[in-house]
Amino acid sequence: MKLHEFQAKQVLARAGIPIPDGRVATTAGEAREAAVQLGGGPWVVKAQVHVGGRGKAGGIKLAKTPDEVATHATAILGMDIKGLTVATVYVERAATIAKELYLGVTLDRDRRRPVVMLSTVGGMDIEEVAATTPEKIARGWPSPLLGLLPFEARALCFDADVPERQRDAVAEIAQKLYRLYESTDANLLEINPLFIQEDGSVIAGDAKLDVDDSALFRQHDAEAMREVAPDEAAEEKARGLGFSYVQLEGDVGIIGNGAGLVMGTLDAVRNAGGRAANFLDVGGGAKEDVVRAALEIVLENPRVRSVFINIFGGITRGDEVAKGILSVLAQAKPRVPLVIRLAGTEAEAGRRLLEGAPLVSRATMDDAAGEAVRLARESR
Ligand code: GDP
Ligand code: MN
Repeated sequence: MKLHEFQAKQVLARAGIPIPDGRVATTAGEAREAAVQLGGGPWVVKAQVHVGGRGKAGGIKLAKTPDEVATHATAILGMDIKGLTVATVYVERAATIAKELYLGVTLDRDRRRPVVMLSTVGGMDIEEVAATTPEKIARGWPSPLLGLLPFEARALCFDADVPERQRDAVAEIAQKLYRLYESTDANLLEINPLFIQEDGSVIAGDAKLDVDDSALFRQHDAEAMREVAPDEAAEEKARGLGFSYVQLEGDVGIIGNGAGLVMGTLDAVRNAGGRAANFLDVGGGAKEDVVRAALEIVLENPRVRSVFINIFGGITRGDEVAKGILSVLAQAKPRVPLVIRLAGTEAEAGRRLLEGAPLVSRATMDDAAGEAVRLARESR
């Protein structure tokens, strides 16, 4: 479960990590008032949506006057960032930036340990830094039993070439961040950028906290901060029904069984020149009702122009899948074409059930993907 930046920053502040003063606003008027209340200036107006890269998308703007804060808030509120509509902005006293660092903690699955990462190439996409100049990221793998020890935190600062003057402050923040990563059951806890200000102080410019869903039963603070934007309602509904659904940016709706097959299906759509509208894995052994719910969720996405159902039956049975599809078709003709590829357990029985139904059946994944992409393009 992801928190908004302003929520994650509150969590940081409670742990003693310095953050800029800020207030949330949902209207331009409130944003203006927030700036006045905060005092000082300049301010920065920041879109609060559950994705990164807001800066590049125009969701972060600097303002010199409260009126300019209001103008920026007007521009940012309602903005679409990676498929999410901005309903809230965070107005902060702007930092005076001398340098931007990166500091983050996540799980390193290969090493089966948390990894702490620190880099003086902050502010930008850390994935990009990792891909192009991996040597610019210092990494440490603290013992999960001992946590990030002071000497390890200092070693990270030396490895990353943190300026001498800020070494102690950054090392201390790293230790606090590591403890928070543990205590919040985070999948990822990241400060990017961690600003070194012109006066030499260190302050969190951004914060990303993703709490492990499996830990929400004991993460009551995080649970209380859960906020489901209308655009995320479908993902939330799917989670409730027990399958994974991730909305993407294309227009070919996808339903498959098994995460690997679904990822392969996304690739097949890509290879056929199209783009998937979502990832949806109904899991193993999905029965009629699950397939029906999955199809309904995919069809609810207004972006979807065709749906590609790709089933390789193992414990999932083709006839159950067919029944789920038929029960949706029984209610109403779907607003977009459906393409299905059924293989494996009871595929033959499934195909027989679907005979005469208003959908396209193809024998191979690539053929079906090609057909789904073509139909999506035609109905655009
Ligand atoms: P993200 O793009 O969603 O990761 O949003 P960030 O909060 O990381 O902001 C992106 C970029 O906006 C930062 O790397 C800074 O360059 C800039 N920025 C953010 N806050 C401030 C601020 O207080 N002052 C100034 N001058 N720039 C800021
Ligand atoms: Mn950032």
